[in-house]
Amino acid sequence: MLRVGITGGIGSGKTTVCRVFETLGVPVYYADTEAKRLYAENKALKSALLDTYGPQVLENGEINTLFLRSVAFGSKDDADKLNNLVHPFVFEHYENWCASHEDRAYTLKEAAILFESGSFRRLHRVVGVVSPQELRIERVMNRDHCTREEVLLRIQKQMSQGELATKCHYLIHNDENHSIVEQVRELHKFLLSDSLQTWPFMT
Ligand code: ATP
Repeated sequence: MLRVGITGGIGSGKTTVCRVFETLGVPVYYADTEAKRLYAENKALKSALLDTYGPQVLENGEINTLFLRSVAFGSKDDADKLNNLVHPFVFEHYENWCASHEDRAYTLKEAAILFESGSFRRLHRVVGVVSPQELRIERVMNRDHCTREEVLLRIQKQMSQGELATKCHYLIHNDENHSIVEQVRELHKFLLSDSLQTWPFMT
């Protein structure tokens, strides 16, 4: 089973693109959603977060994901520390998920950070979703009901789209000139044939 990562900056349209892959029957592992589920269900992770951040990490006895988001978008050191803590749990969960999909030609792992977290090393291929910055800002403002400045701050904390483009094997352009459905269909055909080969993990 070919492991394909899919990543992109905030509001680039990763999740939207993954939904299109799902209509073609491709299983998608949504890393951020699974991490949130693990915060709630995995006692070892919850207690590691509590040990590190103290009671401020809890709200009504549950992990406060808004607090963690502010840490993730805080200083690089804070973000690294959080990722180093959470990543092994998500990694193990993802490995189990992959084992239950071994019969598939390929699967997708959607994550906002694949290169920064090092998790690309357990993937064979990475797809990047890119979108014009203005469109990303507008979409996130509408989706999250936040200000332009807040979106810009989050964009500035992430890898630039130019750098991302140099690291990915394939790019999907989610702008108003290209159909994402057509691009996904083409890539799907390609990945089905790609998976006939045995690729090493990325380094
Ligand atoms: P994040 O990293 O913030 O989770 P994302 O990269 O997963 O973002 P999406 O959630 O897929 O991005 O898209 C951001 C918003 O833009 C969503 O509300 C989505 O519905 C909308 N959107 C994305 N792509 C398109 C498109 N091609 N046409 C219309 N709306 C779109």
